[in-house]
Amino acid sequence: MKNRIFNRTGKAAALLMAAIMALSGCDYSLSGKESSGIVQADESAAENVKKQESTGKQNIGEPVVLELYDVMTVPYMRLQAYGDNADEALALGEEKIKSLDALLSTGNPESEIGKLNASGSEKLGDDASFLLKTSLDFYRQTDGAFDVSIYPLMELWGFTNLYDAGLEEAIEEAEQKVKEKAKKGETGSGKESEPASEETREAPSEADIQEVLKKVDCSKIEFHEETGEVTLPDGMKIDFGGIAKGYASQSVAEILRENGITSAIMDLGGNIQAVGRKPNGSKWRIALNDRNKGGFLGILTVEDCAVITSGGYERNFRDAEGNVYHHIIDPKTGHPADNGFSVDASVTIVCENGTMADALSTAMYVCGPEKATEYWRAHRDEFQMIMMTDKNKMYVTEGIADDYQSDYKYEVIH
Ligand code: AMP
Ligand code: MG
Repeated sequence: MKNRIFNRTGKAAALLMAAIMALSGCDYSLSGKESSGIVQADESAAENVKKQESTGKQNIGEPVVLELYDVMTVPYMRLQAYGDNADEALALGEEKIKSLDALLSTGNPESEIGKLNASGSEKLGDDASFLLKTSLDFYRQTDGAFDVSIYPLMELWGFTNLYDAGLEEAIEEAEQKVKEKAKKGETGSGKESEPASEETREAPSEADIQEVLKKVDCSKIEFHEETGEVTLPDGMKIDFGGIAKGYASQSVAEILRENGITSAIMDLGGNIQAVGRKPNGSKWRIALNDRNKGGFLGILTVEDCAVITSGGYERNFRDAEGNVYHHIIDPKTGHPADNGFSVDASVTIVCENGTMADALSTAMYVCGPEKATEYWRAHRDEFQMIMMTDKNKMYVTEGIADDYQSDYKYEVIH
């Protein structure tokens, strides 16, 4: 099983991205781009269900699929739920995702975060308050690696307009890859879209980086948890881009459970969240794809769990000399993180809580493999992790070693 050694040339490093491989083998005819919303599984899915019945497997019932386009900076989201109440539950989930988008978007001057960033103070509602509190906790726990006051640096590095490369193209790419998977009997997708990856422009000057870095420091935020009132120092701006999608999938998972759903799988742009097990009682299979070779690096089996990956390949640009700069910024240097995880590397966090998985995927990526390992050892009961480093080395923490299979060589961290 662990017998093949990475065989890669040049900079062609293995890239991880999460994708769901479901044994149910559903194949959906997806609805048009214009209309996001709930669709019933089409005939071919029904056929699959029949096939499973005839082969003696348990009847899994017809899943309901919710597709959302261009929401929370994700071109294409796919949520799939089983059970009598799946329609209603997913409709509530959709409402939640859209309300979070409206509350948290940095690009929307009417959102709570848009207003906070413009005026420097705001009374936050429950969702944004919770996210700020959680973000500040992770800031402290990760020794400042996770810092949501990073936004002025995101602006300086030009990582604010997600779809610079074109929204339509980004949507089409993400959707097409999901369809390809569906055809092969897999469902869901990982971090399939790479908007703006072809961008070429200059990096900011060191002087500008140092100037803007002065505005980044979470510890200077004045936050009254009880009232939600928050005040930022001059020029500081907040960006929940490293945590919001995990919070969204976590919130929707809770909504689904409250509404009686015991089996569902969600892909919020590579942020995977599973509710329960598959309807046939087996665990969900999450593939960590090898983007270069088109196959996958490993498969993880999970239940009731979030699997969230951060990678420098998601968003980056190239300068005239060919240097590549990615979107996860080290708050200590003001530059893209380069502590052993760089453009081609990735960190996957596995834990029940999606909010935590998202924050930690970003934070551990900033920390680099050594510090991330140290952090995991101090919090080993809270989460598990799969790391692919700059040097093409894969590490898996022991808590998921039994649930992880790979043809490649990897080291288990104890
Ligand atoms: P993710 O894909 O979850 O790693 O999130 C990346 C996003 O997190 C970026 O696009 C930024 O919005 C935000 N971000 C970048 N660097 C940091 C950091 N050091 N701490 C917190 N958020 C960050
Ligand atoms: Mg994250």
